[in-house]
Amino acid sequence: MRDILPPESERWRRFDAVFAAVAESAGYGQLMTPVLEDLGVFARLGEGGEGVSKEMYQFTDKGGRDVALRPEVTASVCRAFAQHRPTTPWKVWYSGPNFRYEKPQRGRYRQFDQVGIEVVGVDDPMLDVEVIALADEFFRALGLRRITLIVNSLGEPEDRTRYIEALRAHFESFPEGLSATSRETLLRNPLRVLDSKRPEDQAAIAAAPQIADFHSPAAAEHFEAVQAGLRALGVDFVVEPKLVRGLDYYRRTIFEFQSDALDSAQNALGGGGRYDGLVEALGGPPASGVGFALGLDRTLIACDEEGVFQVLPRRLDAFVVDVTGGLQAAAITAALRAAGLTADRGFDNRSMKAQMKLANRSEAAYAVIIGEDEVAAGTVVVKPMDGGEQTNVPRSELVARIQRPTGTDRHD
Ligand code: AMP
Repeated sequence: MRDILPPESERWRRFDAVFAAVAESAGYGQLMTPVLEDLGVFARLGEGGEGVSKEMYQFTDKGGRDVALRPEVTASVCRAFAQHRPTTPWKVWYSGPNFRYEKPQRGRYRQFDQVGIEVVGVDDPMLDVEVIALADEFFRALGLRRITLIVNSLGEPEDRTRYIEALRAHFESFPEGLSATSRETLLRNPLRVLDSKRPEDQAAIAAAPQIADFHSPAAAEHFEAVQAGLRALGVDFVVEPKLVRGLDYYRRTIFEFQSDALDSAQNALGGGGRYDGLVEALGGPPASGVGFALGLDRTLIACDEEGVFQVLPRRLDAFVVDVTGGLQAAAITAALRAAGLTADRGFDNRSMKAQMKLANRSEAAYAVIIGEDEVAAGTVVVKPMDGGEQTNVPRSELVARIQRPTGTDRHD
């Protein structure tokens, strides 16, 4: 788990702000769920023996309750829906940390942030389209261009069950066999074998049956409608018949956003899909949902690779150098800040030279200098730090002087 120091942390905050603006433009409200919940909320996420449940930070609290740090947010959203019974469609967005006991590496951490949206209670394929298009819009708003959207449909639960059986039969009888890891995966969840990137598995995967051949007419129609909607909005996508996702509750549409700027092992920035049965499993009415989660950490790595959404250079408007003891600087910084300007100052009553050094290092636009002469005259010295002429300014005119763009100095 990592510390996020300034100025990088500011980028995290802007990331959230951009996401909030995109989600709220489409009528989504922010849902804030606890970071710690009853273990039962998350225990269902891995019924196939796969997925996040085996990586959970779980423990017994002082009251003897089994609890866990959330490994993701979709289950919490469904638990909140079941608990509060809001009117549908319930459109929410979220942002915050999740915890998984994984082997840390670049782009994979034990505490990582996600932003996401979920809509509960409506089955319309146009909602799948809205959700996917919002993720696409968000990546664009960050400035990312090398993003590939892949989509697939897992069909109805019965379609998926028949497909899983066909996959199992295929992999069990495939003459060249599978890697040892995939043979183990096959026992737990044949769908997940399709995820394998091991060279020994590729022949079997390439020859595997395709989910589309198992789609019921209703599922096929839903998937067609989603694709038509994405095309109508100009959202580029690729149908990837081998895309499967961890959650057992997924049905119909699933999708993933990949960055072409990252190595293929870690190129998934996020994804999601339509799910069914999770709200009910958490004590709510039958209600399906659709949503996605995007990883902040990995998306910022993609931004670095593409050279977009970088840390902005932070410039203070003013750095106050007070050689009279420090009280003047307190009043001047307060006045500047009250006027909406950013201002810092020297402390510890240090020498003029030492404070000017700090002013330089702060990259402030102006140094505001005050000594005994200026106090007596009711003025301050304003020195543009880009090398312009310094001037004496009445205290009452300081704010207006700093508010003026630096470029006008030359005409003083
Ligand atoms: P998931 O909830 O597993 O579908 O993951 C969705 C996205 O969250 C991934 O594509 C990653 O961007 C991000 N993510 C998941 N697990 C981690 C992790 N351990 N560290 C960093 N990001 C993660």
